[in-house]
Amino acid sequence: MRVLISGAGIAGPTLAYWLAHYGFEPTIVERAPELRSGGYVVDFWGLGFEITGRMGLIPELREKGYMVEEVRTVNSRGKRVAWFPASSFTRVTKGQFVSIARSDLSASIFSKIEDKVEALFGDSISRIEQDADTCHVTFESGLRRDFDLVIGADGLHSRVRELAFSDESQFEKYLGYKVAAFQAEGYRPRDELTYVMFTEVGQQIARFAMRNDRTMFLFTFADSLPHRPEEDTLAGRKALLHSRFGNSGWECPQILQALDSAGDLYFDRVGQIHLPSDRGAWSRGRVTLIGDAASCASLLAGEGSGLAIIAAYILAGELHRTQGDYVKAFANYQQLFAPFVRKKQKMALRYAGTFAPKSRMSLFLRNQIVNLLRIRWFADVAVSRDMRDDIAIPNY
Ligand SMILES: Cc1cc2nc3c(=O)[nH]c(=O)nc-3n(C[C@H](O)[C@H](O)[C@H](O)COP(=O)(O)OP(=O)(O)OC[C@H]3O[C@@H](n4cnc5c(N)ncnc54)[C@H](O)[C@@H]3O)c2cc1C
Repeated sequence: MRVLISGAGIAGPTLAYWLAHYGFEPTIVERAPELRSGGYVVDFWGLGFEITGRMGLIPELREKGYMVEEVRTVNSRGKRVAWFPASSFTRVTKGQFVSIARSDLSASIFSKIEDKVEALFGDSISRIEQDADTCHVTFESGLRRDFDLVIGADGLHSRVRELAFSDESQFEKYLGYKVAAFQAEGYRPRDELTYVMFTEVGQQIARFAMRNDRTMFLFTFADSLPHRPEEDTLAGRKALLHSRFGNSGWECPQILQALDSAGDLYFDRVGQIHLPSDRGAWSRGRVTLIGDAASCASLLAGEGSGLAIIAAYILAGELHRTQGDYVKAFANYQQLFAPFVRKKQKMALRYAGTFAPKSRMSLFLRNQIVNLLRIRWFADVAVSRDMRDDIAIPNY
C-alpha cells in the first residue's frame, strides 16, 4: 500500500519507519525545504521513549540529549527562590527520560528512514480527492500522485485536517497563552544542566544551556487574543515579546537583545486539538490524522512528542494487523488512542498556571510546590501520577 504522510516532525517519520518495517510503501511530504532545526527542547519519556528504544534510537538520543539536574526559579535579581532536583523524573520513569532539542529528536527518527523512504521536501498537499480505491493528491508544486492512504502528521495547524476534515477553528481550543522560543550563541551565564525560569504574573521566560555554546530561551505569556496582526511577521513577533518582557527584571533586557539578532524564532499560540469522539470521527475515508494534528495536548502536557510517537506506532501496527483494512485500522487506532490522549489533554490543563500564574498568590503557591518537589516521596507521588502512560498496546 502506498501511504502519503504529510509532515516530517515527530509523528510522520515514526509512522514511516513502522510502515516500512511492516512492508508498506510510505512517502513523506514536508513543507519546509529541509528538516526543521533550532526551536525548543522537549522532555521525552514514557511509552514514546520505549518505542524509540524498539527503533534502536536510545544511545543516539542519550548522546544528543541532556540529563537536567535542577529545575530552578529565580527572582528579578536572579536569586534562586524555588528549585528541585530533576532526578525524580528519571527515578519515576525508571531511567526512560531525556531532555532533547525537538529538532534532534526529529532528525534522529528521520535518519532511520532516509534511505528507505521517499521524502519530498519543500512541498505540501493542496488537494485530496478520493474515490473507492484511491486518494488522488495534488501538491502545491503542481505534482499529482495517487496513494492508497493519506495521513496528516503535519502538526497543530494541519493542512490535511483542513483539507479533509474542516477548518482549524472547529477543532482548536485556544488555551489563552502564546509561546516563543529561540536559540543564541555565546550567551552568559549558562548554569549547565539547569532549567532556569523567571516567572511573573501572566508570563515566564526560561533558559537552558545547550551544547556548542548555544542557549535556548522559551517565553510563555497569557494573551486573551488568539491572534494579533503583528504576529504575522518576524519583526512583529519580536516587537510583541519586547512589549511583554521589556520592563521585566532578571536577564530580560539581555535576552531581548539576543532575540534582536535571532534569525529563527518559533512563535505560536498554545492550543489543543479536540476531534469529536464519535466512532470514525478521526478519519475521512482513506485519510486520518496523528500527532498534534489529531490530538495536540500542547506544551503544557510536556509529552506531545511521546504521544505523537505512540499514535504513529499504534496506527502502523493496526494497519499491519488488519493487513491494510484501513477502515478497521483507523477505527481501532481511534478507539485505543483517543481516550488515552483525552486524559493527557485534561491533565495538561492543570499545568497552565505553572507557566504563567494568574496572580501573585498563584505564583507564590507554585513556588512552594516547586520546593516541595525536593521531598523525595512527594516528588515521586506527584510526578508519577501525571507521567504514567496508562495504555495497553497490542503486541503488533
Ligand atoms: C514550546 C513547546 C515545548 C514543548 N515541550 C514538550 C516537551 O517537553 N515534551 C514533549 O514531549 N513535547 C513537547 N512539546 C510538544 C511537541 O513538540 C509536539 O507535541 C510534537 O512535536 C508533535 O509532533 P508532530 O509530529 O505531531 O508535529 P510537529 O513536530 O509539529 O511536526 C509537524 C511537521 O509537519 C510539517 N508541516 C506543517 N504543515 C505542513 C504542510 N502543510 N505540509 C507538509 N508538512 C507540513 C512541519 O514543518 C513539521 O515538520 C512542546 C511544544 C512546544 C510548542
